[in-house]
Amino acid sequence: MPTTKTSKTEKKNKNETHEFRAEVSRLLDILVHSVYSEREVFLRELISNASDACEKLRYEALTDSELLKDDPELKITLRADKDAGTLTISDNGIGMSHDELADNLGTLARSGTRAFMENASDEAKDKNALIGQFGIGFYSAFMVAKEVEVVSTRAGSGEVWAWRSDGTGSFELARLKKGALARGTRITLHMRDEAKEFLDNEKLRRIVKTYSDHIPLPIELVEKSEDGKSEDVHVLNAARALWMRPKSEITDEDYKEFYGHICGLYDEPAKIIHYRAEGRHEYAVLLFIPKSRPFDLFDPDRKGRIRLYVRRVLITDEADMLPAYLRFVRGVVDSEDMPLTISREMLQNNPVAGAIKKAVTKRVLSELGKMADKKPDDYASLWEAFGAVIKEGIYEDYERRDALLELARFKTTTSDDKLRSLKDYVADMAENQSAIYFITGESAAAAAASPQLEGFKARGVEVLLLTDPVDSFWTSTVTGFDGKPFKSVTQGAADLDALPRKDAARDKDAKKDENTASKAKAATLAALLKQNLEGEVEDVRVSDRLVDSPVCLVAGAGGPDLGLEKILKQSKGEAPAARRILEINPDHKMIRALEDKTDKDKTLIKDAAHLLLDQARILEGELPEDPAGFVTRLNALILKGME
Ligand code: ADP
Ligand code: MG
Repeated sequence: MPTTKTSKTEKKNKNETHEFRAEVSRLLDILVHSVYSEREVFLRELISNASDACEKLRYEALTDSELLKDDPELKITLRADKDAGTLTISDNGIGMSHDELADNLGTLARSGTRAFMENASDEAKDKNALIGQFGIGFYSAFMVAKEVEVVSTRAGSGEVWAWRSDGTGSFELARLKKGALARGTRITLHMRDEAKEFLDNEKLRRIVKTYSDHIPLPIELVEKSEDGKSEDVHVLNAARALWMRPKSEITDEDYKEFYGHICGLYDEPAKIIHYRAEGRHEYAVLLFIPKSRPFDLFDPDRKGRIRLYVRRVLITDEADMLPAYLRFVRGVVDSEDMPLTISREMLQNNPVAGAIKKAVTKRVLSELGKMADKKPDDYASLWEAFGAVIKEGIYEDYERRDALLELARFKTTTSDDKLRSLKDYVADMAENQSAIYFITGESAAAAAASPQLEGFKARGVEVLLLTDPVDSFWTSTVTGFDGKPFKSVTQGAADLDALPRKDAARDKDAKKDENTASKAKAATLAALLKQNLEGEVEDVRVSDRLVDSPVCLVAGAGGPDLGLEKILKQSKGEAPAARRILEINPDHKMIRALEDKTDKDKTLIKDAAHLLLDQARILEGELPEDPAGFVTRLNALILKGME
């Protein structure tokens, strides 16, 4: 965790030196030395922070109007001084206190920065590509500056603090006299020799226009007149909320930059949803679906990340304006009719917020549906990234369950890695097939190799391969799709009798008699095995789901699917009470050989019973219950084989 040399409270009046966290120094090193081609993004980052600071102040001023009083017009000001070699970025926003300066500029605060570091640790990766993908925050200033000075005063406090660092490992904090800065933050960059080009006003204009046009406050450039005696001020950006502008006016580039500003991601979004709703409630919506998973997608908090505005005032950037299973959707909702005085806490019970949430959710799902129809390949990649999260909705959101089941895509035993919808599945069901079959497993490959699937494959029955932990939950609560129930291939009897086998060997009339006889023999063996496995399995029975393997385990009637049982076991740390069933394959050579020994060799049957159960366990990815016993029995058999 962060190390600071001095405790924050003790030494407030002396100059203090603090060390950056170790990773920060490394980040600075990477930034300064390997990504020069993208240097100009430092300005985007500092303007983005200044804009956030102004929006925070606007919010606090809703309850304390004194804060804005002396200087009500929020704005960002740039000033280049070629003689001094400095570029100054000022804002009259919320500002930072002593502790905030130390905490926010001394640690890896920003999510994007942390993700950047995680990725940057892989030396082989292209750092240039990385920097384009993540917002890198405040530290990017050191790409162009040999020294950075931040003077800041927290709105309403009156204290002014100066933070200074050369970016090589430590920073200093010093108190300035009252009034040294009226409000907000002034960042002075002492430019490196090789970055002096950023002191050129034309260049600054171009960079602001390219990256920060969408910032909803004026970004002003202060220029000295030719004779150096007076100053001109020019506003460089459109300074209008992007989501309020008509779509026809907005370029892809505008959207992309705005997406970067609010998500810290600088690749192309996978999907943009932009519209204005009028009617009972009036609001504007601009949402983005990213291309890849954010690192905190599976945080237990499952927090929404929508920025909620009320008439252009940012209320919170973590509003739950969508259900948790759509938490990967980012963007803005701006309401015209919620009260400005609404607090973050009050949001949950606000009926307007509730109504908007409902409508926006519906819209997002319908947009996903359209994408699935019109751009199935794009949708497939989106599903690969976020399907595991969307599926949480299948058991959480009863109202939209059917819509979500239609959106869901699956790998199956017959799809060759392509994703299939349930509609596809149902349309291609085998004759007499009455259920949608699935199997759960760690990976599609592992699931596809399960012995439980053999009988389904032999009959040409497609089986969904479910590999996300969430699959075990929704499949146990959902009744069905299109009137067809979901059924685990590891659960209950397989009901495969009604379906003809493709190889058809066992179904020929000629073999019927032989069949009944051999079934009786198999049943005898099953009963005997059951005696020997008393207390370890609920039952041993003859299987119609096995083709190549001698045995497999399935769930008992009413017991949980094997995948769910495993999850419950892990989370509770104990074996569940549910007993499983051992199924034997009456056509397997070994089982047939054992059938002939049933009344002769008691120890052989006893050992075989345990070995069969243990091998079925191993196929399920488990250990034999009694590893020592397993080894003893196995060795005895090997010896016998060699006699
Ligand atoms: P991020 O913006 O993603 O949080 P940054 O590295 O860009 O990450 O900034 C770190 C933090 O420093 C911000 O979250 C904010 O709290 C603080 N900060 C940076 N610049 C300013 C500013 N101009 N005014 C107020 N606070 C700021
Ligand atoms: Mg930032």
